[in-house]
Amino acid sequence: MHIEVRELEKHFGSFHAINKTNFQIQKGHLVGLLGPSGGGKTSILKMLAGLEQPDSGEILFNGTLANSLPVQKRGIGFVFQNYALFKHMSVFENIAFGLKVKKVKSSVIKERVRYLIELMGLEGKENKYPHQLSGGQRQRVAFARALAPEPQLLLLDEPFAAIDAKIRKELRHWLRNLISEFGTTTIFVTHDQDEAIEVADEIIIIHNGKVEQQGTPWEIYNQPATAFVASFIGESNKLETPLSLNGFPELTDSVASKSDAHILIRPEWIEVRPQKSANYARVGERGVVKHMHFRGESWFLEVEILNNVKLFTYQSINQKVFQPGEEVDVLIHKLSLITPDETRVLENK
Ligand code: ATP
Repeated sequence: MHIEVRELEKHFGSFHAINKTNFQIQKGHLVGLLGPSGGGKTSILKMLAGLEQPDSGEILFNGTLANSLPVQKRGIGFVFQNYALFKHMSVFENIAFGLKVKKVKSSVIKERVRYLIELMGLEGKENKYPHQLSGGQRQRVAFARALAPEPQLLLLDEPFAAIDAKIRKELRHWLRNLISEFGTTTIFVTHDQDEAIEVADEIIIIHNGKVEQQGTPWEIYNQPATAFVASFIGESNKLETPLSLNGFPELTDSVASKSDAHILIRPEWIEVRPQKSANYARVGERGVVKHMHFRGESWFLEVEILNNVKLFTYQSINQKVFQPGEEVDVLIHKLSLITPDETRVLENK
Protein backbone atom coordinates (compact mmCIF):
# COMPACT_ATOMS: atom_id res chain seq x y z
CA MET A 1 0.00 0.00 0.00
CA HIS A 2 1.29 3.47 -0.89
CA ILE A 3 1.01 5.91 2.00
CA GLU A 4 0.99 9.67 1.98
CA VAL A 5 0.73 11.95 4.99
CA ARG A 6 0.04 15.63 4.33
CA GLU A 7 0.32 18.43 6.89
CA LEU A 8 -0.66 16.04 9.67
CA GLU A 9 -1.31 17.62 13.07
CA LYS A 10 -2.16 16.24 16.48
CA HIS A 11 -2.55 18.35 19.62
CA PHE A 12 -3.01 17.25 23.19
CA GLY A 13 -4.45 20.42 24.75
CA SER A 14 -2.05 23.17 23.77
CA PHE A 15 0.80 20.69 23.18
CA HIS A 16 1.62 20.03 19.51
CA ALA A 17 2.60 16.37 19.49
CA ILE A 18 2.59 16.27 15.66
CA ASN A 19 3.29 19.44 13.79
CA LYS A 20 2.43 19.73 10.07
CA THR A 21 4.14 16.48 9.20
CA ASN A 22 4.57 15.29 5.61
CA PHE A 23 5.97 12.06 4.19
CA GLN A 24 5.32 9.37 1.62
CA ILE A 25 6.02 5.66 1.78
CA GLN A 26 6.24 3.53 -1.35
CA LYS A 27 4.39 0.24 -1.65
CA GLY A 28 6.35 -2.74 -0.30
CA HIS A 29 8.91 -0.65 1.58
CA LEU A 30 10.10 -1.47 5.08
CA VAL A 31 10.34 1.86 6.87
CA GLY A 32 11.70 2.67 10.32
CA LEU A 33 10.24 5.61 12.25
CA LEU A 34 13.16 6.59 14.42
CA GLY A 35 13.60 9.30 17.01
CA PRO A 36 14.00 10.14 20.67
CA SER A 37 11.34 9.35 23.23
CA GLY A 38 8.32 11.66 23.08
CA GLY A 39 9.06 12.76 19.50
CA GLY A 40 5.71 11.57 18.16
CA LYS A 41 6.43 8.18 16.56
CA THR A 42 3.66 6.27 18.28
CA SER A 43 1.16 9.09 17.66
CA ILE A 44 1.86 8.85 13.92
CA LEU A 45 1.45 5.06 14.00
CA LYS A 46 -1.85 5.37 15.87
CA MET A 47 -3.22 7.87 13.36
CA LEU A 48 -2.22 5.59 10.47
CA ALA A 49 -3.96 2.73 12.24
CA GLY A 50 -7.10 4.77 12.91
CA LEU A 51 -6.74 4.47 16.69
CA GLU A 52 -6.29 8.26 16.99
CA GLN A 53 -7.87 10.98 14.87
CA PRO A 54 -5.67 13.74 13.42
CA ASP A 55 -6.69 17.32 14.30
CA SER A 56 -5.90 18.36 10.76
CA GLY A 57 -4.07 17.14 7.69
CA GLU A 58 -4.64 14.15 5.47
CA ILE A 59 -3.73 10.47 5.42
CA LEU A 60 -3.98 8.88 1.97
CA PHE A 61 -3.83 5.14 1.32
CA ASN A 62 -3.15 4.39 -2.36
CA GLY A 63 -4.11 7.98 -3.14
CA THR A 64 -7.50 7.83 -1.37
CA LEU A 65 -8.29 9.89 1.71
CA ALA A 66 -8.40 7.52 4.69
CA ASN A 67 -8.82 9.92 7.65
CA SER A 68 -12.26 8.66 8.62
CA LEU A 69 -11.87 5.03 7.56
CA PRO A 70 -12.66 2.75 10.54
CA VAL A 71 -9.75 0.69 11.94
CA GLN A 72 -11.08 -2.64 10.70
CA LYS A 73 -11.52 -1.33 7.14
CA ARG A 74 -7.92 -0.15 6.80
CA GLY A 75 -6.40 -3.55 5.96
CA ILE A 76 -3.74 -3.07 8.62
CA GLY A 77 -1.91 -5.60 10.80
CA PHE A 78 -0.41 -4.51 14.13
CA VAL A 79 2.29 -5.85 16.37
CA PHE A 80 2.85 -3.98 19.59
CA GLN A 81 5.81 -4.30 21.89
CA ASN A 82 4.11 -6.31 24.61
CA TYR A 83 2.87 -8.79 21.94
CA ALA A 84 -0.49 -9.10 23.66
CA LEU A 85 -1.52 -12.52 22.45
CA PHE A 86 -4.88 -13.89 23.52
CA LYS A 87 -3.89 -15.77 26.67
CA HIS A 88 -6.76 -18.23 26.58
CA MET A 89 -6.12 -19.19 22.94
CA SER A 90 -3.59 -21.66 21.59
CA VAL A 91 -0.92 -20.65 19.07
CA PHE A 92 -3.12 -22.01 16.28
CA GLU A 93 -6.18 -20.08 17.49
CA ASN A 94 -4.20 -16.87 17.94
CA ILE A 95 -2.93 -17.00 14.37
CA ALA A 96 -6.32 -18.01 12.99
CA PHE A 97 -8.17 -15.22 14.83
CA GLY A 98 -8.14 -12.54 12.10
CA LEU A 99 -9.16 -15.06 9.46
CA LYS A 100 -12.11 -16.27 11.56
CA VAL A 101 -13.27 -12.68 11.99
CA LYS A 102 -13.16 -12.34 8.21
CA LYS A 103 -15.24 -15.55 7.99
CA VAL A 104 -12.65 -17.35 5.89
CA LYS A 105 -13.49 -21.04 5.22
CA SER A 106 -12.01 -23.31 7.89
CA SER A 107 -10.09 -25.45 5.37
CA VAL A 108 -8.39 -22.28 4.04
CA ILE A 109 -7.67 -21.12 7.61
CA LYS A 110 -6.01 -24.44 8.44
CA GLU A 111 -3.81 -24.26 5.38
CA ARG A 112 -2.80 -20.63 5.94
CA VAL A 113 -2.04 -21.14 9.65
CA ARG A 114 0.01 -24.24 8.88
CA TYR A 115 2.01 -22.27 6.31
CA LEU A 116 2.69 -19.43 8.77
CA ILE A 117 3.63 -21.84 11.57
CA GLU A 118 6.22 -23.37 9.28
CA LEU A 119 7.46 -19.98 8.06
CA MET A 120 7.89 -18.76 11.64
CA GLY A 121 9.64 -21.93 12.79
CA LEU A 122 6.85 -22.72 15.25
CA GLU A 123 6.24 -26.33 14.25
CA GLY A 124 5.07 -28.43 17.19
CA LYS A 125 3.81 -25.37 19.11
CA GLU A 126 0.33 -25.24 17.52
CA ASN A 127 -1.46 -26.36 20.69
CA LYS A 128 0.67 -24.49 23.20
CA TYR A 129 -0.63 -21.45 25.06
CA PRO A 130 1.27 -18.12 25.21
CA HIS A 131 2.56 -18.73 28.74
CA GLN A 132 4.22 -21.94 27.51
CA LEU A 133 6.33 -20.07 24.93
CA SER A 134 9.57 -18.09 25.11
CA GLY A 135 9.54 -14.33 24.45
CA GLY A 136 10.94 -14.79 20.95
CA GLN A 137 8.34 -17.46 20.15
CA ARG A 138 5.50 -15.25 21.39
CA GLN A 139 6.81 -12.44 19.22
CA ARG A 140 6.78 -14.73 16.18
CA VAL A 141 3.20 -15.80 16.96
CA ALA A 142 2.27 -12.11 17.12
CA PHE A 143 3.80 -11.55 13.68
CA ALA A 144 2.01 -14.60 12.28
CA ARG A 145 -1.28 -13.37 13.72
CA ALA A 146 -0.79 -9.93 12.16
CA LEU A 147 0.21 -11.37 8.77
CA ALA A 148 -2.45 -14.09 8.52
CA PRO A 149 -5.23 -11.87 7.09
CA GLU A 150 -2.71 -10.57 4.47
CA PRO A 151 -2.74 -6.91 5.53
CA GLN A 152 -1.74 -4.25 3.03
CA LEU A 153 0.10 -2.40 5.76
CA LEU A 154 1.90 -3.78 8.79
CA LEU A 155 2.52 -1.46 11.76
CA LEU A 156 5.04 -2.52 14.37
CA ASP A 157 5.51 -0.47 17.54
CA GLU A 158 8.90 -1.25 19.08
CA PRO A 159 8.41 -4.88 18.09
CA PHE A 160 11.61 -6.13 19.67
CA ALA A 161 11.78 -3.91 22.75
CA ALA A 162 10.95 -6.65 25.24
CA ILE A 163 13.30 -9.24 23.78
CA ASP A 164 16.84 -9.90 24.93
CA ALA A 165 19.73 -8.57 22.87
CA LYS A 166 20.87 -11.79 21.20
CA ILE A 167 17.44 -12.94 20.04
CA ARG A 168 16.63 -9.39 18.99
CA LYS A 169 19.50 -9.48 16.49
CA GLU A 170 18.23 -12.76 15.04
CA LEU A 171 14.69 -11.44 14.84
CA ARG A 172 15.83 -8.35 12.93
CA HIS A 173 17.26 -10.47 10.12
CA TRP A 174 14.27 -12.70 10.21
CA LEU A 175 11.91 -9.70 9.94
CA ARG A 176 13.77 -8.32 6.92
CA ASN A 177 13.52 -11.64 5.10
CA LEU A 178 9.91 -12.11 6.09
CA ILE A 179 8.84 -8.69 4.86
CA SER A 180 10.69 -9.05 1.58
CA GLU A 181 8.99 -12.42 1.04
CA PHE A 182 5.52 -10.99 1.74
CA GLY A 183 6.13 -7.62 0.08
CA THR A 184 3.89 -5.97 2.69
CA THR A 185 4.41 -2.25 3.23
CA THR A 186 5.72 -2.13 6.81
CA ILE A 187 6.35 0.70 9.24
CA PHE A 188 8.11 0.01 12.50
CA VAL A 189 8.74 2.40 15.35
CA THR A 190 12.04 2.26 17.15
CA HIS A 191 14.28 4.50 19.19
CA ASP A 192 17.22 2.19 18.48
CA GLN A 193 19.30 3.57 15.62
CA ASP A 194 21.18 0.30 15.05
CA GLU A 195 17.88 -1.49 14.64
CA ALA A 196 16.60 1.07 12.13
CA ILE A 197 19.85 1.08 10.14
CA GLU A 198 20.06 -2.70 10.05
CA VAL A 199 16.43 -3.48 9.24
CA ALA A 200 14.89 -0.62 7.26
CA ASP A 201 14.93 0.16 3.52
CA GLU A 202 14.21 3.70 4.51
CA ILE A 203 14.29 5.70 7.75
CA ILE A 204 12.12 8.63 8.77
CA ILE A 205 13.61 10.61 11.64
CA ILE A 206 10.93 12.10 13.88
CA HIS A 207 11.81 14.83 16.35
CA ASN A 208 9.52 17.30 18.13
CA GLY A 209 6.55 16.12 16.07
CA LYS A 210 8.23 16.77 12.74
CA VAL A 211 10.10 14.85 10.07
CA GLU A 212 13.75 15.83 10.32
CA GLN A 213 14.86 13.65 7.43
CA GLN A 214 13.68 10.75 5.29
CA GLY A 215 16.20 8.63 3.41
CA THR A 216 17.97 5.31 3.10
CA PRO A 217 20.05 4.26 6.10
CA TRP A 218 23.13 5.18 4.03
CA GLU A 219 21.84 8.69 3.34
CA ILE A 220 20.80 9.27 6.93
CA TYR A 221 24.19 8.16 8.22
CA ASN A 222 26.40 9.82 5.61
CA GLN A 223 24.36 12.87 4.67
CA PRO A 224 22.50 13.99 7.78
CA ALA A 225 20.20 16.82 6.70
CA THR A 226 20.16 18.62 10.04
CA ALA A 227 22.40 19.03 13.04
CA PHE A 228 19.88 17.02 15.05
CA VAL A 229 20.12 14.00 12.71
CA ALA A 230 23.89 14.28 12.68
CA SER A 231 24.12 14.08 16.44
CA PHE A 232 21.33 11.50 16.85
CA ILE A 233 22.70 8.98 14.34
CA GLY A 234 26.05 7.36 14.84
CA GLU A 235 29.04 8.72 16.67
CA SER A 236 30.94 11.76 15.59
CA ASN A 237 33.46 14.40 16.50
CA LYS A 238 31.78 17.80 16.61
CA LEU A 239 33.93 20.83 15.96
CA GLU A 240 33.04 24.47 16.02
CA THR A 241 33.94 26.63 13.05
CA PRO A 242 35.85 28.62 11.91
CA LEU A 243 38.55 26.00 11.64
CA SER A 244 40.84 25.43 8.69
CA LEU A 245 41.92 21.89 7.94
CA ASN A 246 44.42 20.81 5.28
CA GLY A 247 42.63 19.22 2.32
CA PHE A 248 39.40 21.18 2.86
CA PRO A 249 39.72 24.59 1.17
CA GLU A 250 35.94 25.10 1.54
CA LEU A 251 36.38 25.54 5.28
CA THR A 252 38.00 28.90 4.74
CA ASP A 253 34.98 30.01 2.63
CA SER A 254 32.52 32.41 4.11
CA VAL A 255 30.02 29.58 4.71
CA ALA A 256 32.22 27.86 7.27
CA SER A 257 32.97 31.01 9.16
CA LYS A 258 29.30 31.54 9.96
CA SER A 259 29.02 31.35 13.69
CA ASP A 260 26.19 28.81 13.57
CA ALA A 261 28.04 26.38 11.29
CA HIS A 262 29.77 23.32 12.67
CA ILE A 263 31.81 20.41 11.45
CA LEU A 264 31.07 16.77 12.08
CA ILE A 265 33.62 14.00 11.54
CA ARG A 266 32.72 10.33 11.90
CA PRO A 267 35.44 8.27 13.63
CA GLU A 268 35.77 6.05 10.54
CA TRP A 269 36.58 9.10 8.39
CA ILE A 270 39.81 9.61 10.34
CA GLU A 271 43.05 7.78 9.70
CA VAL A 272 45.98 8.00 12.10
CA ARG A 273 49.46 6.98 10.91
CA PRO A 274 52.98 7.13 12.28
CA GLN A 275 54.45 10.50 11.37
CA LYS A 276 56.04 10.28 7.93
CA SER A 277 56.84 12.71 5.16
CA ALA A 278 56.33 16.44 5.07
CA ASN A 279 54.32 15.73 1.93
CA TYR A 280 51.66 13.91 3.88
CA ALA A 281 50.98 16.95 5.99
CA ARG A 282 49.66 18.83 2.96
CA VAL A 283 46.41 16.83 3.12
CA GLY A 284 46.57 15.81 6.75
CA GLU A 285 47.28 17.32 10.11
CA ARG A 286 50.08 16.83 12.56
CA GLY A 287 48.78 15.35 15.79
CA VAL A 288 49.74 13.95 19.17
CA VAL A 289 48.27 10.78 20.68
CA LYS A 290 46.36 11.48 23.89
CA HIS A 291 44.82 8.10 24.73
CA MET A 292 44.65 4.64 23.27
CA HIS A 293 42.71 1.83 24.93
CA PHE A 294 41.58 -1.63 23.99
CA ARG A 295 37.85 -2.23 23.57
CA GLY A 296 37.58 -5.83 22.34
CA GLU A 297 37.10 -5.66 18.58
CA SER A 298 39.08 -2.42 18.17
CA TRP A 299 41.16 0.26 19.87
CA PHE A 300 39.80 3.62 20.94
CA LEU A 301 42.24 6.35 19.96
CA GLU A 302 42.20 10.03 20.81
CA VAL A 303 44.53 12.48 19.09
CA GLU A 304 45.00 16.20 19.45
CA ILE A 305 45.51 18.34 16.35
CA LEU A 306 45.83 22.08 15.80
CA ASN A 307 44.09 24.57 18.11
CA ASN A 308 43.84 21.89 20.85
CA VAL A 309 41.12 20.13 18.84
CA LYS A 310 40.72 16.54 20.04
CA LEU A 311 39.44 13.83 17.69
CA PHE A 312 38.49 10.26 18.54
CA THR A 313 38.61 7.33 16.19
CA TYR A 314 38.91 3.54 16.28
CA GLN A 315 41.86 1.49 15.11
CA SER A 316 41.41 -2.11 14.03
CA ILE A 317 43.24 -4.64 16.19
CA ASN A 318 45.62 -5.27 13.27
CA GLN A 319 46.74 -1.65 13.17
CA LYS A 320 49.64 -0.08 14.99
CA VAL A 321 49.34 0.57 18.71
CA PHE A 322 50.45 4.11 19.62
CA GLN A 323 51.79 5.40 22.90
CA PRO A 324 50.46 8.57 24.56
CA GLY A 325 52.61 11.51 23.50
CA GLU A 326 53.57 9.93 20.17
CA GLU A 327 53.52 12.31 17.21
CA VAL A 328 51.31 11.16 14.34
CA ASP A 329 49.82 12.18 11.00
CA VAL A 330 46.05 12.54 11.06
CA LEU A 331 44.29 12.22 7.73
CA ILE A 332 40.65 13.29 7.63
CA HIS A 333 39.07 11.66 4.58
CA LYS A 334 35.78 13.52 4.74
CA LEU A 335 33.63 15.66 6.96
CA SER A 336 30.14 17.12 7.11
CA LEU A 337 29.76 20.86 7.20
CA ILE A 338 26.42 21.67 8.79
CA THR A 339 24.80 25.08 8.61
CA PRO A 340 21.18 25.94 9.39
CA ASP A 341 20.54 26.00 5.61
CA GLU A 342 22.28 22.87 4.41
CA THR A 343 24.60 19.96 5.09
CA ARG A 344 27.55 19.41 2.78
CA VAL A 345 29.74 16.33 2.85
CA LEU A 346 33.23 17.46 1.85
CA GLU A 347 35.94 15.08 0.61
CA ASN A 348 39.62 15.67 1.27
CA LYS A 349 41.15 17.14 -1.91
P1 ATP B 1 8.33 6.91 22.83
O1 ATP B 1 9.53 6.52 22.04
O2 ATP B 1 8.67 7.34 24.22
O3 ATP B 1 7.18 5.95 22.76
P2 ATP B 1 7.08 8.59 20.79
O4 ATP B 1 8.03 9.24 19.84
O5 ATP B 1 6.38 7.39 20.32
O6 ATP B 1 7.81 8.31 22.15
P3 ATP B 1 4.48 9.67 21.30
O7 ATP B 1 4.04 8.53 22.16
O8 ATP B 1 3.90 9.77 19.94
O9 ATP B 1 6.07 9.73 21.20
O10 ATP B 1 4.17 11.01 22.08
C1 ATP B 1 4.46 12.29 21.55
C2 ATP B 1 4.18 13.33 22.59
O11 ATP B 1 2.77 13.44 22.81
C3 ATP B 1 4.77 13.03 23.96
O12 ATP B 1 5.29 14.23 24.49
C4 ATP B 1 3.61 12.52 24.78
O13 ATP B 1 3.78 12.84 26.14
C5 ATP B 1 2.44 13.25 24.16
N1 ATP B 1 1.21 12.43 24.22
C6 ATP B 1 1.00 11.25 23.61
N2 ATP B 1 -0.25 10.78 23.84
C7 ATP B 1 -0.84 11.69 24.66
C8 ATP B 1 -2.13 11.80 25.27
N3 ATP B 1 -3.07 10.87 25.07
N4 ATP B 1 -2.37 12.88 26.03
C9 ATP B 1 -1.43 13.85 26.20
N5 ATP B 1 -0.21 13.81 25.66
C10 ATP B 1 0.10 12.75 24.90
